[in-house]
Amino acid sequence: MHFRTRAIHIGQEPDPATGAVVPPVHFASTFAQPGAGEWREYNYSRSGNPTRHALEVTAASLEGCGPEGGALAFATGMAAIHCVIASLRAGDHILASSDLYGGAYRLLHKVADRAGLTVTLADATDLAAFEKAIEPNTRLVWVESPGNPLMTIIDLKGVAEIAHRHGALAACDNTIATPVLSRPLELGMDIVMHSATKYYGGHSDLMGGLLAMREKHVYDDLAFLQNATGAIMGPMESFLCSRGAKTLELRVREQSRSAQKVAEWLSQRKEVKRVLYPGLPTHPGHELAKRQMDGAFGGMLSFELNATDAQTKAFVKATQLFSIAVSFGAVESLISQPASMSHASYDPADRAKAGITDGLIRLSIGLESADDLIADLERALFSTT
Ligand SMILES: *Cc1c(COP(=O)(O)O)cnc(C)c1O
Repeated sequence: MHFRTRAIHIGQEPDPATGAVVPPVHFASTFAQPGAGEWREYNYSRSGNPTRHALEVTAASLEGCGPEGGALAFATGMAAIHCVIASLRAGDHILASSDLYGGAYRLLHKVADRAGLTVTLADATDLAAFEKAIEPNTRLVWVESPGNPLMTIIDLKGVAEIAHRHGALAACDNTIATPVLSRPLELGMDIVMHSATKYYGGHSDLMGGLLAMREKHVYDDLAFLQNATGAIMGPMESFLCSRGAKTLELRVREQSRSAQKVAEWLSQRKEVKRVLYPGLPTHPGHELAKRQMDGAFGGMLSFELNATDAQTKAFVKATQLFSIAVSFGAVESLISQPASMSHASYDPADRAKAGITDGLIRLSIGLESADDLIADLERALFSTT
């Protein structure tokens, strides 16, 4: 079955008790047992809940987890990353790519260190240099592709091979690409992570996280830790996320079409220093993205204005269809200045090294007409630069 068919039918069968086409939302925290010490499929909602399970089955199909693996749904994307970190032991080392989501950077540098883990960030677009940053105790390699906010493209197959050569697990934050455009498990990654708050949910109305695993022992360990630490996705969010997943492919393909148009338009403007979108031939990751991503380049792009910090802030404010907000991946378009918003938790030196300047602006393209979005950007450029 094709992706969009599975998104609608796998895990989302009509309710056998009533025939309801949309499975009901199960809010129960606990489930009656046939007798003491006798168990049915569900007993307590932290360990398993039918509404959450339905979403996990859908996500496992979309991510390509196969018969041995599975997906797990968490309260937030950060809870999902934290669960992976919790699978490590004091003394273990994590190697991560340098173009990293701000919250992941904070978790690795200000939380993981308390548990005795060490972290190195390295440029994963240069695989040879990335491999040199591996240490004898590296147990986890963590990358993000496309990266946030520079849209860096990383060779996921190459990263998985490096990790496996050194006995580490390979994990990929696939939030920006979505399983529509990238399925890292098929490229050899062991763990795929999503902030379901973004494209999976798709409507700026839920928070959630997902992990997807192909191998049974990796899935089993993370499922154990999810129950043991408890940051599960709630029933209402699971229901909303399953609903979002049904239109995931349609949304992402349309948002990619509009993002391509906006990126091409911006690259013609003299006020714009550079446009970072993997769909442009000028992007350093373009050729790799063409091979690695499934026929489109996603709904996110960044660009740098020839402007001061104050002018950049004025431009961001002058747009009308784009709300100034962190987050992305929803039907409404958003605009942000990463240096003062999503990446404010970076150490300023690391931020400068990563190329996140004050003039950098990130767009999340929604489902409005691309022509209206371009007209809005043009008006804002005219009035502020
Ligand atoms: C938002 C985001 C996260 C964190 O997810 P939350 O749902 O906000 O906890 C992690 N990685 C990326 C790429 C994100 O965009």
